[in-house]
Amino acid sequence: MNYDASSANSSRPPVLAHLHNAPTAQGLTIPYLTLCHRGRRSPVWGAIDPERYAVVLGLRLCQVCGEALGKGEGPGNQVVVFIRPQDWLRGIGPEPGLHPSCAAYSTRGCPMLAGRMPTYRSNAVAARITPCDDPGCECHQWTMPDPESTEAQRAGKPADPWYSALIDARDYEIIHVDGDESSPSGYGVRLREVPILRLRKVRGTPDNEPTVLDMVAAALDLNRLADGL
Ligand SMILES: [Zn+2]
Ligand SMILES: [Zn+2]
Repeated sequence: MNYDASSANSSRPPVLAHLHNAPTAQGLTIPYLTLCHRGRRSPVWGAIDPERYAVVLGLRLCQVCGEALGKGEGPGNQVVVFIRPQDWLRGIGPEPGLHPSCAAYSTRGCPMLAGRMPTYRSNAVAARITPCDDPGCECHQWTMPDPESTEAQRAGKPADPWYSALIDARDYEIIHVDGDESSPSGYGVRLREVPILRLRKVRGTPDNEPTVLDMVAAALDLNRLADGL
C-alpha cells in the first residue's frame, strides 16, 4: 500500500534487491505510488500521486517498485492485493496490486500495515497545499485530492483491518464501479469471483472483532486441510 514510513524508524526491513535503485527516505524504499517533491527524495508520506495511480492501474504495475505485475513463472505470476472487509463485500479493492516480495516488504515497513498507527494520517492532505522552497518542484501545482477519493476519505479516520490476498496474475483485473451511499465511484481490483490462493490478516483493530475476511481465511484453510487428506 501507499505506506507511511515517517514513524517506522524502529523497524526498518532490509531493502529488497530489486528495490535497490528505488529512492529511499528514512531508510525505507519510497513506493512508486507515493507523492514526492522534486527528485523523489522527499515523500509526502500517506499521499498518493494521482498521475502515478492512474499509470499503475492502467499498466498493471506494482505500486511499490513500479515494475509490471505477473511476469515470470511460479511466484512471479502471483499478485498480492491488500484489502479490507468492506472491499471484499463490495467486490472491488482500491489498492493496486504488488509483487509478493514487495508486499512482504510493505507489510514490515509500513506502519499502517504493521499495526503501529491507530489512525490514517490527516496531514497528507494538508501537505499538498504547502509547497516546498524549490521553485522548480511540481508541488506548486498540486491540488487537493478529490473529496471522494480513498485518500481524502481515509484521512484522520481509525485504521481499518487489512488483509493480504494472493491471487493469480491472470485474475488481476482493474474494473470501475459506480458510487453508492457508502462508497465513492472509482477504479480498483476486481475481487468478485476471483479465486483467492491465500488470505492472511495483516493488521487488526483494537477490538479485534472477527470480520467477514477472517471467515473467508478460515474457510480457505479448511479447504486446504481437506485437500491434504
Ligand atoms: Zn516541492
Ligand atoms: Zn514490486
